[in-house]
Amino acid sequence: MTNVNDWMAAPPYAQRNEAFAAAYRAQCYCGAIAFEVCAEPVDAKICHCQVCQTLHGAPFQWAAIFHKADVRFVRGVSRLFFFSAETGQAGRTLPCKLSCSVCRAPIADEGRRMFLAFVPLFDFGSPRRVPASFEPTCHIFYGARTLDVNDSKPKYLGHKGQSPLWQPE
Ligand SMILES: [Zn+2]
Ligand SMILES: [Zn+2]
Repeated sequence: MTNVNDWMAAPPYAQRNEAFAAAYRAQCYCGAIAFEVCAEPVDAKICHCQVCQTLHGAPFQWAAIFHKADVRFVRGVSRLFFFSAETGQAGRTLPCKLSCSVCRAPIADEGRRMFLAFVPLFDFGSPRRVPASFEPTCHIFYGARTLDVNDSKPKYLGHKGQSPLWQPE
């Protein structure tokens, strides 16, 4: 019988890896929640789907993807709020959205295996210089966009590599 709070003792919410060395740090707007990553992102994408638009109150969402074992929370795990877009309910049903229960800033999407951290939360110095590894490699769900983006990155109508590319007219 598993305790409903067992997830709090597992990555990314708790790390027992003694060798964890933070490469980048991130926090929510109010600072109640902070996390670190010890590796470069596996990939980074911009999502234009309508779920992201609505939940972020923004034209699109920019996430850097990490293995959960490469992420650790250093503050505020008990203040995380979980919401599942699939069930429409609060609660940590994977995949789900994480936000801060104090300032309501979106923090990450937690998948079954991966942690999709929202890039604007990271501390990249002042003035901010986004490392090349966080640069989005593509746009996904571009067919649902509310704003055009004029860059040369591939624009998929749905998921990366699993849907046709958008073609300019
Ligand atoms: Zn906050
Ligand atoms: Zn999306």
